[in-house]
Amino acid sequence: MSEPRRVILLGSTGSIGESTLDVIRHMGGQAEAGFQVVGLAAGTRYEQLVKQAEEFKVDSIALADASRVEGDAFKGELLTGPGSARGLVESVAREGDLVVAAIVGSAGIDAVMAAIDAGCDVALANKETLVAAGSLVMPRASERGIRLLPVDSEHSAIFQCLQGCNGEKEISRLVITASGGPFRGMDRETIRKATPKEALAHPTWSMGPKITIDSASMMNKALEVIEAHWLFDLPAEKIDVIVHPQSIIHGFVEYVDGSVLAQMGPPDMKTPIQYAMTWPHRKDGCSHKMNWSELSSLAFEQLDHEAFPPVMQALEVIRRGGTAGAIFNAANEVAVEAFLANSIPFGGIHDLVTEAIESIPIRPVTALSDIVKADEDARAFVRERIGCMSSLNAESTAVSSENG
Ligand code: NDP
Repeated sequence: MSEPRRVILLGSTGSIGESTLDVIRHMGGQAEAGFQVVGLAAGTRYEQLVKQAEEFKVDSIALADASRVEGDAFKGELLTGPGSARGLVESVAREGDLVVAAIVGSAGIDAVMAAIDAGCDVALANKETLVAAGSLVMPRASERGIRLLPVDSEHSAIFQCLQGCNGEKEISRLVITASGGPFRGMDRETIRKATPKEALAHPTWSMGPKITIDSASMMNKALEVIEAHWLFDLPAEKIDVIVHPQSIIHGFVEYVDGSVLAQMGPPDMKTPIQYAMTWPHRKDGCSHKMNWSELSSLAFEQLDHEAFPPVMQALEVIRRGGTAGAIFNAANEVAVEAFLANSIPFGGIHDLVTEAIESIPIRPVTALSDIVKADEDARAFVRERIGCMSSLNAESTAVSSENG
């Protein structure tokens, strides 16, 4: 029997992280599945991380928030601090390992870069890495012969539909499907007033909070369009989004001869996670299988760009290049946090991202420090704007109570 493939799982306590461990459990546990988890990284949930390490017999773990470490029950290597996921990769990774990148947000970028430098293939869920730093990540991966295997269901679908394709000249366009989220069919003004509870109620997918809000605003599709541009090396003009409420077709490729190849499956992230891990092979999957007797139709609608403007912005971000992606992504991350904390209205997310992209100078990218600087500038800009909005709100409340 061949050696099990070593896996480092970044973002293990999150939705994708737990699903990845479920996939390994389903395939018969580590030995049977042919995988050996050798490193786990998380942000804050220490107890859950240690439990995972015990179950999967992992000796090296990392936690970004050192203040959340409790007790000394864990006897292996424990790295802490904001750069600890990167530190874990640098300490544990060997050439040929698989790094599952499932940290949320641009916090995941430097660990992905470290994985590439260590010669590991990357199963990439962390789309923000490509949105912000695709211009650095893709050439570095290609120089080192590293495979970036998409975990995002739409990109996994397109990746599967592209097998056998002989280059861009054969492709008319890629189409990413969108469920439409909880606000499908609503007008822009109604959507702008949505509450966190309404925005977190996704109709077809169960995911972490940040991506669920991104799905409601359609920012998730915007990020996916930019991710597709980098992963498949195609211009903005060849990437499109279509609304497909059942979330059964995840993406398709239209070829120049008129053929359209689509990939279907139940809306369950375990399927694309498993495919990224077992590629180019397939194994018995743990997601429930399609029940064709329950499915009577597949519907498609055009995306309402007036109600959901981020996808058009994403195409512009691709055209502008440089640090535009890093600014777009970081502004959104801060705005989503503020929305979830009830500090800004839902419509404020789009307003702040638009202000950031229009106000912060877009510069060329030659090194990771350019991305880090753009990310920091966008965060500072949006935080300041949120501060101004809060003090204006406080003033208007004071004025109306005086008048009242
Ligand atoms: P979650 O919020 O559920 O999980 C995020 C994970 O990242 C947690 O393990 C969290 O740790 C960890 N984390 C956060 N910050 C840091 C940090 N600084 N260092 C180390 N770990 C950190 O998110 P999801 O699992 O939903 O999403 C993860 C990524 O996958 C995102 O980029 C998302 O866009 C992408 N994705 C997700 C899909 C889904 O269905 N969920 C589908 C397609 C893509 P802790 O919780 O301990 O703080």
